[in-house]
Amino acid sequence: MVDNTASVVMDRCDQIGMISSEEGGVVRLAYTPALRRAQDLVANWMQGAGMSVTEDNVGNLIGHYAATHADARTLIIGSHLDSVRDAGRYDGVLGVLVGIAAVEALQRLGRRLHYAIEVVAFADEEGVRFGAAYSGSLALTGHAAQIDLARCDAAGVTLEQAIRNFGGDPDRIMHDARRPEELLGYLEVHIEQGPQLEARGLPLGLVTAIAGANRVNVQFRGTAGHAGTVPMELRQDALCGAAECVLLGEELARTTPGLVVTVGQISVTPGATNVIPGEATLSLDLRHQDDQVRQACLAELHTRAKAIAATRHLVVRWEELLSRPAVAMDPQLSNQLRRAILATGVTPLELASGAGHDAAVMATASAAAMLFVRCRGGISHNPAESVEEEDVAAALAALGQLLEQLDRE
Ligand SMILES: [Zn+2]
Repeated sequence: MVDNTASVVMDRCDQIGMISSEEGGVVRLAYTPALRRAQDLVANWMQGAGMSVTEDNVGNLIGHYAATHADARTLIIGSHLDSVRDAGRYDGVLGVLVGIAAVEALQRLGRRLHYAIEVVAFADEEGVRFGAAYSGSLALTGHAAQIDLARCDAAGVTLEQAIRNFGGDPDRIMHDARRPEELLGYLEVHIEQGPQLEARGLPLGLVTAIAGANRVNVQFRGTAGHAGTVPMELRQDALCGAAECVLLGEELARTTPGLVVTVGQISVTPGATNVIPGEATLSLDLRHQDDQVRQACLAELHTRAKAIAATRHLVVRWEELLSRPAVAMDPQLSNQLRRAILATGVTPLELASGAGHDAAVMATASAAAMLFVRCRGGISHNPAESVEEEDVAAALAALGQLLEQLDRE
């Protein structure tokens, strides 16, 4: 069936992309007036698609498309409308709007399914404003206790106050929780945010897992000294040790399939052109979809950092800041999604997501699956974010097919 649904989705992404708290860019942080305007616009589209619209206590926008019968289970199609600073038009937004378009297609046919569909725009996925992400999906999955309401933004506003100002009720967030038995599943459509689909010339990806991650602060300490007077063989140069560590991380990642290692920050003291670095501190970000591989690689890097320090007469301090396990997508729902994609004539690329998503939280309460859409250059969190209308059409076709399959079973 040829229709203009994908172009409507593209046009709506542009409209949401115009809503920003700063001129000339996209900035829609959680619980801000800009996000309010976006949610109100999306609420109109939900109503137009035949959904009843509510917002829950944590601020999630929810469109409900009723089933053929009461007490049917619910398929949640979700993503987010909040953004990072200087964001693009598709991260999060595309998933919400594709969900609405799929419901709109059912409404046009006058169809109800044996399950209800809810399109959910999660309130705070990016976590930019309060430094903690996923308040929306944590609430929905009954993890309200993990939401730190006392956290402050840069202006000193607490998350609790921000939710209240937004129209939510922080005292009642625990009532947002869904019972797992009432959920048929959770599906998230999202841009890939990486270059793998483009490299393979494929429009759609099936996510196998959301990668686990470690963040480590690694500090090498040596001895600062005069750049002109201390001979090379007598130096304890902390930065040279750190540099070796950076390249070891790169080498390990290049030789371990699926592993990515990034050093994104490095600081050196005293930090002068004529002083040997006495201290060098680097950030280590390590991700893999298999927790055993991830932990083994992390241990390997730690061992080798200690060896570097020993050889160079340095002291190394290894401080693990974060260890987040991988989250596998549900095999059955993913299999359904694979069949649906194949039925539309597209072969999906199976890949892990290196970025976090609400799907990782939703997976704690429901079968969860994710569909990736190719994005140009793998670029995201950037105004240059770009997707093709025909790829959005492919995602819509696959989603429509999945809804039919789930209805038959
Ligand atoms: Zn996102």
